[in-house]
Parts: sequence; C-alpha cells; structure tokens
Amino acid sequence: MAQIGIHSLLVLPIKRYIPKHKGLVFGILLGSILPDADNFAVAAATLTGGSVEGLHRTYTHSLLTAAFIVLMFFLLGKIFKKENWGYLGLGLGLGFGLHIFVDLLVWFNGVELFWPFNSWVNLWENVTPPEAWMKLMNPLEFLFIALFFVALNFEARKQNTDMGVIPTLRVWTYIQLVLFVVFLILAYVSTSNLVTIIYGAFYLLSLILLLWIVFKMRNTIEA
Ligand SMILES: [Zn+2]
Repeated sequence: MAQIGIHSLLVLPIKRYIPKHKGLVFGILLGSILPDADNFAVAAATLTGGSVEGLHRTYTHSLLTAAFIVLMFFLLGKIFKKENWGYLGLGLGLGFGLHIFVDLLVWFNGVELFWPFNSWVNLWENVTPPEAWMKLMNPLEFLFIALFFVALNFEARKQNTDMGVIPTLRVWTYIQLVLFVVFLILAYVSTSNLVTIIYGAFYLLSLILLLWIVFKMRNTIEA
C-alpha cells in the first residue's frame, strides 16, 4: 500500500489548477482515498478465516472501475438533472486514476490495472526491500494521515473555511501521531498476530475518520 495520507496530500497542492466546478475537487480527494477501502474486505476475510487472495489492489484499483464510476455519475446526473453529479463522478474517476498511478510508482506492489481482466502490473517485481523498511509501512499510514490533517488545518485557516472543525481536527491529528509512535515501536519489538489485528482495526477506523473529515471540510477542499 502507498499510504492513504500520501494520496490525500497530493490533491491539496494541485487543487488550485483544477477548474472550479462544484464536486470536482471533493470527488478527486474522495476518489484518491476510496480505493484502499478494499482493506475492509481483507479484514473481513482475515477475521472469518477466508482467503484474502485478490481482495486488495484489484476491483478498486482498476481503470475500468474508474471509468464505470464516471459513466454512472454522468448518466445519473443527466437523469436527475444534477449537473454537479457529473463533476463529482469525474472527480471520483480522476481520484481513482491518481491513486492507481501513485500505487504503481510508490511502492513495492502491483495493481490489477484492468480488473476484471487479468492485468497485474508490478513495476517492483524484481525489488526486495529490506525488512526493516517494510516494517515502517504500516505505522507510516498514521503519520501521513496526521500530515494531511496538518495541511488541511493550514488550508482552512488560510481560507477562513470550516473553522468550527479545526479543534476536532487538531485532536485527531495528535491521536494519529500517537498511533504512529505506538505502532512504530510495536512493529520493531513484536511479531504477534494480535498486534497486526489491532493495527488493522485502528487503520480501518482511521480510514473512516479520514473520509469523515474530508466530508466535514469539503468547503475547504473545494474553496
Ligand atoms: Zn491503493
């Protein structure tokens, strides 16, 4: 996984270059996060003892899924005469595309680029990263979510938008930082399965939190 906070962080600096259509930037940000929600399926399979084969980086990491979302939102927008649904869908599709592109480049895994067809692309096939480095990957999820929250906080104060959410955002930023430190230490001192399960629970909760914050601060994101 490339850290979901990285995907979110990438959208903020480029948003000023994106045309101001209601729903577009919000869609790009949501779309750049949502592909990793396939980890819920991975968690469900793990907890029920099922196979996790083909559950991560497949149906949510496919350019065909992205195109399907754009088309569905466009058609629904036409049917219900909601122009911004089309822009939201376009944003979601672009966000999925950006996420897939970043996942391919960064790092150490592939994606099923044209799921449902057999199309696994892994630019890192011949690279075996050091184990000590790979242990960093999971805790880093929390650090990058915290960094995204810091950037969002900065953006909101600069634009004077969503100021009511700032105190909550600050608390969650510190919680993410604490989670980063705790799981960083655990990654190097413990190999227990229980730690992995607890990590997974906090990761999924953080993903929901991230989506909730993005929704609450959509005015900042779209401004
Ligand atoms: Zn991903």
